[in-house]
Amino acid sequence: MLAVVKENPEPGVVIKQMPIPVVQDEEVLVKLVYSSICGTDIGIYDWIPWAQGHIKPPQIIGHEMVGQVVEVKSEKETKIQKGDYVSSETHIFCLNCYQCQIKNYHICENMQLFGIGRNGSFAEYATIPLRTTWKNDPSIPVESMSVQEPLGNAVNVVTKAQVKGKKVLVMGLGPTGLCAGMVAKAYGAKEVVGVNRREYRRELALKVGFDRAVEALDEKEYGTFEAVLEMSGNRVGIQVALDAARIAGKIIAFGIPKEEINIDWGKYMINKELSIESVFGRMIWETWEDTTKLLISGEVDLRKIITHRFKLSEFEEAMKVMKSGECGKVLLEV
Ligand SMILES: [Zn+2]
Ligand SMILES: [Zn+2]
Repeated sequence: MLAVVKENPEPGVVIKQMPIPVVQDEEVLVKLVYSSICGTDIGIYDWIPWAQGHIKPPQIIGHEMVGQVVEVKSEKETKIQKGDYVSSETHIFCLNCYQCQIKNYHICENMQLFGIGRNGSFAEYATIPLRTTWKNDPSIPVESMSVQEPLGNAVNVVTKAQVKGKKVLVMGLGPTGLCAGMVAKAYGAKEVVGVNRREYRRELALKVGFDRAVEALDEKEYGTFEAVLEMSGNRVGIQVALDAARIAGKIIAFGIPKEEINIDWGKYMINKELSIESVFGRMIWETWEDTTKLLISGEVDLRKIITHRFKLSEFEEAMKVMKSGECGKVLLEV
């Protein structure tokens, strides 16, 4: 089968023929239909320090996906059957640690990551543990099924922010930021404003339902947002998030900075009484259930943020588009 492989501990990938994986106990073998490129995959491609610490080449990369089940290997009863359209939860939990015992599976202490710590979905076939396999509702458009990971992150972020009736700021309009705006509108936010340097992303934000999208926030609006969704992971973005939030407002931290960030603790955490919560991935499976409801009802249509499609063999071109930032979600058709 054709696969995108991090062959050596260096930047770049190799697109090559690999053996079809053999399904192990309590796993499914899936024939991929679509796999989408995540921001994380850029870091893996460029071989940033985080990737060096998490990937042992050779490794098939990719983790956002939808595929059809070819084989189920399980001793237990399962509702997943041959032919089902399934997606994978990237956070593969252990079921044994303290966090798993209290059902915080998404922050498992022994977490393995699909497409990062084990072979992933930029390939014609992949194996997924049954416990992290999500059976999709057949009424959802198949290409949307592949993009549920960023949507799920957004659902978790917006749920924590409790946006109903509030003025909401979204810092950073990558795919997850765009999803966050769509979900905030669906969950009854009074007004949703997005901030991004790129015109392309601001236009996309307006298309998917943001009330406004600006290059930089006018200082006159500082202190007026009841909920701020920090999706940028950018030093300036984080500073604006702190200033834009209203007194006693809430910030949800999602974007991961590449550098250490200093904040004026007294000014923001005490005098301003801000509350800052964070999101790392999706609640398993509560977030996926909420995500499904939004997709079935049509309140969120992920096809609006899918801007580019490539064949698996065209991965290098797809990565170029990803790096340009002139895109929404980039889909690989397998
Ligand atoms: Zn991802
Ligand atoms: Zn665990």
